[in-house]
Amino acid sequence: MDGLNKSMYDIGSDSAFSILARSQELEKSGKKVINLGIGQPDFPTPRNVVEAAIKALKDGHHGYTSSNGILELRQAIADDFFERNKVVIDPNDILVTPGGKSIIFYTLLMFGQPGVEIITPDPGFIAYKSMIDYTGATSVSLPHRMENNFSFDADELIDLVNEKTKLIILNSPGNPTGGVVPQKELQKLAEGLVKFPKVFVLSDEIYSRILFDNLKHHSLIQYNEIKDRVIVLDGWSKTYSMTGWRLGYGIFPKNIFSYAEKLAINCHSCVNSASQYAGIEALRGSQNEVEEMIREFQKRRNFLVEELNGINNVECKKPGGAFYVFPKVSKNNMDSSEISKYLLENKFIATVPGVSFGANGEGFLRISYANSIDNLKIFINCLREFINE
Ligand code: PMP
Repeated sequence: MDGLNKSMYDIGSDSAFSILARSQELEKSGKKVINLGIGQPDFPTPRNVVEAAIKALKDGHHGYTSSNGILELRQAIADDFFERNKVVIDPNDILVTPGGKSIIFYTLLMFGQPGVEIITPDPGFIAYKSMIDYTGATSVSLPHRMENNFSFDADELIDLVNEKTKLIILNSPGNPTGGVVPQKELQKLAEGLVKFPKVFVLSDEIYSRILFDNLKHHSLIQYNEIKDRVIVLDGWSKTYSMTGWRLGYGIFPKNIFSYAEKLAINCHSCVNSASQYAGIEALRGSQNEVEEMIREFQKRRNFLVEELNGINNVECKKPGGAFYVFPKVSKNNMDSSEISKYLLENKFIATVPGVSFGANGEGFLRISYANSIDNLKIFINCLREFINE
């Protein structure tokens, strides 16, 4: 197709969505597919949150809101952020967006251009690289290795920084691995970046509430030496099972906030107002359902890790957060795409091949355990069968 902006040909896609489409095709033909491919909690949005949205609609909140989000919501975000991270955020530095993904896109539009380098986790969330490629910037892989519990090494990261580097993307707990970056590595990074005062960091903290084994979340924005160069992304999709509500936010340093806001005004105008009222209730209301969901995820993780490590040629770390495990699976000379395809077409189990998250993901599969223990048991049996075939 001629005539499009040539950058359009550089945008990648998210294989989780094409795997979902293929699963749906198989289901239409009568097969029962167990979907461990898609990254969304299998819990309903808490009832009180749904009620708040209904009330907002009944109360007549039908129009545009201010493009950065209603003040009550931004204040609720600032309060929640303080409670969790002990960092004071000015509500005027918060941009509420239709999902956290918009923050990724806007940030990359702000920093990415030909000649610029952007450091991104490998394996890492697919949208980072797709959108870096779209802007014409060069994505530089930051390895997150299994032997390092899928975190990064701050010295290795600092070695990748040069005068072309404008942005570093961090994601902890991480998609696709569930890996958590230890506090000492963040500390080292904050100190190391003092030498590079023009480099910004996008810290994707969308899974920061979903942590296990009493782990505590740490954010780079907690370090004073780097605080004014950190963009934080968070949202409701995962913590409150609100993927379809399209509600997320970014905290931007003051000196670049207005550019993010202009992108919002020109692109999405504002988030639908009922979702914003629901977002206030989610943050200010009872957290019991969230805590219950996290306990259930932890049970499933424990089950999967133990079972996976009991299968020949499968090795799995115990991730500290999110709702993914990222086992290494070896079978003859099959690569991760071939294994994932085989499991879908022959065992009717959807997984995502590790390589779709970057070259360092080759040899692994992403398993989302946002699914029942019964289905996870079927998956384990099918995987064992496949390995032994
Ligand atoms: N960041 C990461 C690491 C994610 O996994 C996701 C969702 N899969 C997002 C951001 C975006 O979430 P949403 O736009 O649904 O809020």
